[in-house]
Amino acid sequence: MQFSRLRLTGFKSFVDPTDLVIARGLTGVVGPNGCGKSNLLEALRWVMGETRAKAMRGAGMEDVIFAGASSRPARNFAEVCLTIDNTDRLAPAGFNDADQLEVTRRITRDVGSAYKTNGKDVRARDVQMLFADASTGSTSPALVRQGQISELINAKPKARRRILEEAAGISGLYQRRHEAELKLKGAEANLLRVDDVIEQLA
Ligand code: ATP
Repeated sequence: MQFSRLRLTGFKSFVDPTDLVIARGLTGVVGPNGCGKSNLLEALRWVMGETRAKAMRGAGMEDVIFAGASSRPARNFAEVCLTIDNTDRLAPAGFNDADQLEVTRRITRDVGSAYKTNGKDVRARDVQMLFADASTGSTSPALVRQGQISELINAKPKARRRILEEAAGISGLYQRRHEAELKLKGAEANLLRVDDVIEQLA
């Protein structure tokens, strides 16, 4: 899957609608300190389903909404839309029927986040699984934050293993296994309850 466009509105310092074309090959973002380079990378991570406000350098997720400046009032929502070129049909099953895939996340104050793929409402999990199955996503090792290289060097073996699993494209399977285990536990609890009822009736 090839990211082809990133559009931001009201996201952190990108208060006005901003449209970035991501060409094939290497893309570099340059600019003076504080101009918003890291905010761009965070927008990418956020639209892919990041749930940790801390990973967005905020105390709460609403901190990604433009907070206002001396000359401009704060915004009530932030929206990021990522366009994926799917002409090579590499998107995972369920998302693979169009040449272009548009993933949108919007957060509204006091309401929370809502996601869409190609204009249709979807759950956060659907978006997270879409990127996990494509071996990318908000926790992808392909997105390297400032200071992350030294963190990796000092990481414990378990954390390093997670990175290898991500690269091997099996992190989506782990998420599914976790969900299957939760369902199984629920079913076991129900069976115990059924046993109790049968005992009472006997
Ligand atoms: P550096 O090169 O120093 O790492 P950078 O180009 O990566 O800087 P960012 O860290 O992306 O810059 O952007 C920081 C700017 O974003 C700051 O000016 C900060 O005030 C602004 N900013 C962050 N969150 C918000 C928000 N919610 N509303 C308005 N501005 C914000």
